[in-house]
Amino acid sequence: MNKPVDTATLKALDRAHHLHPFTDLSGYARDGGRIISRAEHIYIYDSDGNRMLDGMSGLWCCNLGYSQPAIVEAVTRQLGELPYYNNFFRCSNQPAVELAAALVKVTSERFNHVFFTNSGSEANDTNIRLVHRYFDLLGKPQKKQIISRRNAYHGSTIAAASLGGMKAMHEQAIGLSYVHHINQPHCFELGGEHSPEDFGVAVARELEEKIDELGEDKVAAFIAEPVQGAGGVIVPPESYWPEIQRICDERDILFIADEVICGFGRTGRWFGSETYGIRPDLMTFAKAVTNGYMPLGGVMVSDKLADVLLASGGEFAHGLTYSGHPASCAAGLATLAIIEETGVIERAATALAPRLQSQLAALADHPIVGQVRGLGMFAAVELVRDKATRERLAPESEAAVYCRDWANAHGLMVRQTGDAMIMAPPLVSHPEEIDELIALLTRALDATAAHYG
Ligand code: PLP
Repeated sequence: MNKPVDTATLKALDRAHHLHPFTDLSGYARDGGRIISRAEHIYIYDSDGNRMLDGMSGLWCCNLGYSQPAIVEAVTRQLGELPYYNNFFRCSNQPAVELAAALVKVTSERFNHVFFTNSGSEANDTNIRLVHRYFDLLGKPQKKQIISRRNAYHGSTIAAASLGGMKAMHEQAIGLSYVHHINQPHCFELGGEHSPEDFGVAVARELEEKIDELGEDKVAAFIAEPVQGAGGVIVPPESYWPEIQRICDERDILFIADEVICGFGRTGRWFGSETYGIRPDLMTFAKAVTNGYMPLGGVMVSDKLADVLLASGGEFAHGLTYSGHPASCAAGLATLAIIEETGVIERAATALAPRLQSQLAALADHPIVGQVRGLGMFAAVELVRDKATRERLAPESEAAVYCRDWANAHGLMVRQTGDAMIMAPPLVSHPEEIDELIALLTRALDATAAHYG
């Protein structure tokens, strides 16, 4: 148990000394925020005693919720036995070895190797290092360009922020010159009068156009999330992924699937790539691999790349002090064991996801809802003033921020991206907790409609 400190003191110290990620720093220093002090199952509690249903699984990571003693025990045991050792210099450790093997077992047969990092951002940096090394070893050093998508989120290191396509981040971090962006398959935003299927093909073909523009001999890889999460749970039209896969196959372009959010059950299967039948050459994971309890990320490396890397002499000059940290890997092993033993992915896909998605779909009739989209256990609700013209309720996404703040203040942790409300509840939610989430969200939408009416 943390030593009890009164909330006012904690909040004052927080405002005085703690720089928070993705936060308006001056606003926070002035107003502060809430201190989350404990969590149980799918509920979080703040130091003022408020209880909130966590409709975001933390930061899309606590897919199994907050009450998983087996993960805590595995980490505690590991810290007692071997709290740290590195994987450099021809050393390894048991949890890292076992987790590598366990990940190989649950991913496609194309993946037989893994490179561990501490986070999704570092894993995406690692992807760039792997891709560049691969083409260097093949004698194609000119193949260095990487194509990503606007509004994507791939992390917050310089390289990962470059891969991402978030305008606000690019304004503050100069993008790498070899990263290029095409449009996202966001039908509501960009589809106009096209049918979703026509739009899906057209937006996928932007990849082909970009490859032609840059030169096929210069383009190394395309990176994308199966479903763009932080960008707004952008579920692509059915026609999108087959077209992207065709282009990558035909044009000698590596395909990196960023499964940091989609992985470990969010889309209804173990990985979003499975849900869409796509065949990435590299696959980024993080977050739910340890159920968020310990920092861990990594890259699944397909045989196509691994065979080249392993056949080469010389060192792959890349690594992190905590790559394959024993305690993080112990958390990963325990998490994977729970997922497998409880069948939580299948249960969520069959018993929870239809309930979540059908109740959300019914919200399409709400006066300020312009679109509902979702897949498996995540979804987005677009707020509009006019359903036909898609006119927004207020500029600068102000209405969605209002709706989020209202929900947060009334017991529901959801998030806002642009004008969309975003949710990704834990896969261990009970059916009636999905109903509770929807009821709270509906009240937040009603309050927003009344405020902007
Ligand atoms: N990739 C995706 C798709 C993400 O959503 C995130 C984080 O939200 C990252 C990468 C970065 O992961 P991390 O925050 O662990 O660095």
